[in-house]
Amino acid sequence: MHTYDYDLFTIGGGSGGVRASRFAAQYGARVALAESGPLGGTCVNAGCIPKKLMSYAAHYHNDFEEAAGFGWSLGEQRFDWPTLIANKDKEIARLNGIYKQILTNANVNVIAGHAQIVDAHTVVVNGTNYSAHNILIATGGHPIKPELPGSELSITSDEFFHLPALPNHAVVQGGGYIAVELASILNGLGCRVTLVQRGSQILRSMDTDLGHFLIAEMRKKGVEIALDTRILSIAAHGDRKQVALSDGRTLDSDCILFATGRKPNVRGLGLENAGVLVRENGAISVDEHFATNVPHIYAIGDVIDRVALTPVALAEGMVVAANLFQHGRKLMSYENIPTAVFSHPNVATLGMTEAKAREKHAHVNIFKSEFKALKHTLSGSSERCLMKMIVDADTDRVLGMHMVGPDAGEIIQGFAVAMQCGVTKAQVDATIGVHPTIAEEFVTMRTAVV
Ligand code: NDP
Repeated sequence: MHTYDYDLFTIGGGSGGVRASRFAAQYGARVALAESGPLGGTCVNAGCIPKKLMSYAAHYHNDFEEAAGFGWSLGEQRFDWPTLIANKDKEIARLNGIYKQILTNANVNVIAGHAQIVDAHTVVVNGTNYSAHNILIATGGHPIKPELPGSELSITSDEFFHLPALPNHAVVQGGGYIAVELASILNGLGCRVTLVQRGSQILRSMDTDLGHFLIAEMRKKGVEIALDTRILSIAAHGDRKQVALSDGRTLDSDCILFATGRKPNVRGLGLENAGVLVRENGAISVDEHFATNVPHIYAIGDVIDRVALTPVALAEGMVVAANLFQHGRKLMSYENIPTAVFSHPNVATLGMTEAKAREKHAHVNIFKSEFKALKHTLSGSSERCLMKMIVDADTDRVLGMHMVGPDAGEIIQGFAVAMQCGVTKAQVDATIGVHPTIAEEFVTMRTAVV
C-alpha cells in the first residue's frame, strides 16, 4: 500500500482550514497545514474581528451623545485613529498566536509558505514536496472592485483596516454586508460618508424590510445614501480625489472604498495540475461531501462560494474531518443559518425572507413591530427597532425572523436554536418574555399584520 507523508494536507489557515485540520488530527489523522500569511484567514485578519472591534469603537460616538439624557456630562471627546489601529493589530497578533498554538497542540504540522498542488496526492511548499492521501483546499477569497478609470486610487476592505488616518470624507460603493458595516464605522468615528449603491435596495439578499429600514436609520445618523447610483471614475486631485457619480455629481473625497463583492482565491494553487474543476465565477466545484471532481481533493469555505460566513466554513470543516477520519457520512445543512450585519444599527436575519416564504408556502402570516427602545426615551436618540416574524399559517411553523436594532445578532442567536428545533408560533407565544428588553418583542407579537 502507498504510504503518504500525511493523511490530510490542508491549504489555507483560515477558519475552515484550521477547524478541519484540528478535528482531523484529533480523530488520529497525520495532518499538515500550509498558510502563506498570518493564521486565522479573512475573519481574524481582515474581516469579522477587526471589523467588530472597530464597530465597538464607532458606537462610543452615540453613547457619549446619549449619556447626557441620563445625567452625565462629559468633557471634550477626541478620537485617535492610530491608537485604535495599534490596539486592534495587537489583538489580531494575539489571535494569530492562539491559532498557531491550537494547531500545534493538536499535532498539526504548520508550514509557512504558499502551497501549490503538484498532482492529486502532492503539494509543494517552499520547494519541498509533501505527499498526502487527502488534500483540503480552504484558501478563502479576496475583495474585488469594478474596473473603471482611476480605480487604482480606491481601496477595498483589505486596506481599510490599515489606513494611516481616519478620512474626512469617504465614498463607499456597494450595498452589501461590507459596505454598510464599513460606512457605519466611518460615520461613527466622525468621517462624512456617502454610500453609493447601484440598485434601489441595500442588503438585497435579505428581507426587503431590513434594507429599507436600515437606510432610514443610517440616514438619521448622517450617512448620505445615494441609490441607483454608481461611481463612474476617480481622478487624483492633489492628495484628494474627485469621484464622478452616475447621478451627475462630482464629489471631493479622501477615501474611495469599493465593497462590491469577493472572489475565491484559486490563482497559483495549481488546480490545473490535478485537473480540479472550477465554476464560471472561479469557485471550486464540490459535491455535497465537499469532494471536488478529483478523488481525495476536497474544498470548503469561501473558495467554494456557497455561504461566505465564518461559522459556515467551520461547520463545513468539521463535516469533512468527520467524514474522512470518523467514517461518517455527515451532510452540511444550509437551512436556518443565522447571520448579523454589524451596521449601525445592527441587522440580524434567520430563515426565509417574506418573498421566499410566499413563493414556497400557500398561506403566510407576517408579524411585525417597529418601536423606540426604552433607552431612547431618555437618550434623545430617534433610533427605532424593527422586528419581523414570518409564519406558515397552515402549520404554524416559524419560517423566518428578522430584526434591525441593538445587539440584533445576540438576540437572533437564541431564536436560531428554537428554529433549529422547528419552533411554532404558538410555542413562541407561550414563551415568557424578559422584561424590559428589546428581545421580548419577538414573544409578544400577537396580531398578524398581513
Ligand atoms: P455582497 O455580495 O454582500 O455585496 C456586494 C454589493 O456590491 C452589492 O450591494 C452589489 O449590488 C454591489 N456590487 C457588486 N458589483 C458591483 C459593481 N460592479 N458596481 C457597483 N456595485 C456592485 O459583498 P460584500 O463584499 O459586502 O461581502 C461579501 C460576503 O462576505 C457577504 O456576502 C457575506 O457572506 C460575507 N460577509 C459577512 C459579514 C458578516 O457576517 N457580518 C461581514 C462582511 C462580509 P447589488 O445589491 O445590486 O447586487
